[in-house]
Amino acid sequence: MPLQTLATTLAAAERGGYAVGAFNVSDLNQTIAVLDAARAERSPVIVQAITGMSAYGDESWWWHMLRTVVESYPDVPATLHLDHGRSLQDCVGAMDHGFTSVMIDASRSTEDDEPNDFESNVAITKSVVELAHARGVSVEGELGTIGGAEAGVTGVLEEIIYADPAQAEEFVARTGVDALAVAVGTSHGSVKFTDETGGQRLRINLIAEIKNRLPETALVLHGSSSIPVNAVAAINKSGGSVTPSYGIDAAQKQAGIAQGIRKINQGTDSHLAWTAALRTELSERPSEVEPSSAIAAAMAGMSGIIRERMREFGSAGQAT
Ligand SMILES: [Zn+2]
Repeated sequence: MPLQTLATTLAAAERGGYAVGAFNVSDLNQTIAVLDAARAERSPVIVQAITGMSAYGDESWWWHMLRTVVESYPDVPATLHLDHGRSLQDCVGAMDHGFTSVMIDASRSTEDDEPNDFESNVAITKSVVELAHARGVSVEGELGTIGGAEAGVTGVLEEIIYADPAQAEEFVARTGVDALAVAVGTSHGSVKFTDETGGQRLRINLIAEIKNRLPETALVLHGSSSIPVNAVAAINKSGGSVTPSYGIDAAQKQAGIAQGIRKINQGTDSHLAWTAALRTELSERPSEVEPSSAIAAAMAGMSGIIRERMREFGSAGQAT
């Protein structure tokens, strides 16, 4: 089947009462790992990439190859999505390479990274929606500020500005976005909450309140990886140094899905699994220099955690 728009993927999720995982990739092997997981679980999937974040020097080549690899899985209902586009130019670049969905994150200024005011966010987002919809591409916007390390945002554990339900309603009405990322207590990056209750901090009532005002809009959770303890331990046992922290547990995410969350970004969890498997393989076979076994191990590690997430989100078995 041809690549799906985000609107199509999330409309099916709304009908089925599940969420679709969105997994960040920065090279072709990771892309294959994500698609293999989707095929094995018979799950829809969102493959996403960030401008300037890949293993390759030539972004135009990388995006072309990314689209080609996703298309080589015709049995997988897949959406190719730009994560955290910062400008109209970022989004147009992705559309030119056949992405079927873009996120415009105008919640922060591209100049000083400070939170943008509401009117600027509306104006930038609306300009992307007009262009994207004319080309049959879906758009995700962001309201409020999700904490942690975002693309181009270096701060960790910085303050979260929660989404305001009335403003969310106005934002969607004025911009026409297909999906809305809402700041409801999650945080980006591999170091999330330093206290155990951090992962219990999702404001489920706030999700319900926003959904109540926006029944037709798919809500998106960012920064909601679980930070599996075993992956962090495996990385640190094999020479890594990742600060242990607490993420968002599966039950919290499922409670969010029950209130209308339809897309869940899980970049960090899949990257932790990749790095843990790669480091383990390299340290367990110190004399091996031929790269294939290490790359295969990393791919298997990443596929494994993605399959787990697809089952947790209820998207497994939903490919039709
Ligand atoms: Zn994000």
